[in-house]
Amino acid sequence: MTRIAGLSASELSSESAAAPAGSSESRGAAAPGEELQVEYSSVARTFNGPLGSFVAVTDIDLQIRTGEFVCIIGPSGCGKSTLLNMAAGLLTPSEGEVSYSGKRVREINTDVGYVTQKDSLLPWRTVERNVALPLELHKVRKPERRRRVSEMLRRVGLEKFADHYPSQLSGGMRQRAMLAQTWVYEPHTLLMDEPFGALDALLRTQLQEDLLEMWERDRKTILFVTHDLEEAILMADRVVVFGAAPGRILHVESVDFDRPRNLMELRSTPEFVDMWKRLWHLLETQIDASGAQ
Ligand code: ADP
Ligand code: MG
Repeated sequence: MTRIAGLSASELSSESAAAPAGSSESRGAAAPGEELQVEYSSVARTFNGPLGSFVAVTDIDLQIRTGEFVCIIGPSGCGKSTLLNMAAGLLTPSEGEVSYSGKRVREINTDVGYVTQKDSLLPWRTVERNVALPLELHKVRKPERRRRVSEMLRRVGLEKFADHYPSQLSGGMRQRAMLAQTWVYEPHTLLMDEPFGALDALLRTQLQEDLLEMWERDRKTILFVTHDLEEAILMADRVVVFGAAPGRILHVESVDFDRPRNLMELRSTPEFVDMWKRLWHLLETQIDASGAQ
């Protein structure tokens, strides 16, 4: 059975002006000498649909540095999840190559933790036992497992809910539990697919702050898909703006705001508002083009 960060694929699923096109900024290249974690080189992916085959993503050249926080934003259906699936080794590119730590991804990439759009918590397990699952699958001994799970539950603020079942949790708590379940295994890279998309604004801000705090401490590489531009700019080192039909990179924006960031303050600064407006303008043309809302 194939596994990502201790979870099988079935477990995961069941349960200024833009830089000119063609500049290194817009292509998503890292500076020379920087250590690369994930690299997409001339990647395209084609699918067979009801009307024949179609190109979901094309011409993807993107280099993600070790410890970098990269957000991907773009209209619905432009291939954001497809991009993550290729880094996870769940999908192979039709053209080009995806590399992880310098090696071509040819099978399930067990070095990454994947927080998918679907709920990965098992309803018959308590929060504690859900978070422990990846460690159990990797035969981590019980005392060590206990230690890591309780530390993780403390970090995401769920220590008092260890004995609760997923159905007894709020949406925000379930997201925290999923984050804990992925982080506990200590993957080097996290792929996160719209993890806070269904939450209200207040909860989302809290989870963004929690995630940034965890990232500041552990500096994992994060590839984070969102449809919320504000979220992307608040959190990322770089924002990758996708266009639709076919999915492709339109622009990569470096976000150099100081860290650690105070999200409440940052979002009202003129620099933030200016960046938001520029990128929104770019996204708007794509949303119109793809017919999405
Ligand atoms: P996004 O995450 O940006 O909304 P996806 O990566 O899920 O977009 O999908 C991009 C396009 O590829 C969509 O048109 C979607 O229907 C199609 N697609 C994704 N996965 C498959 C698949 N396994 N088989 C056929 N079509 C797919
Ligand atoms: Mg998606």
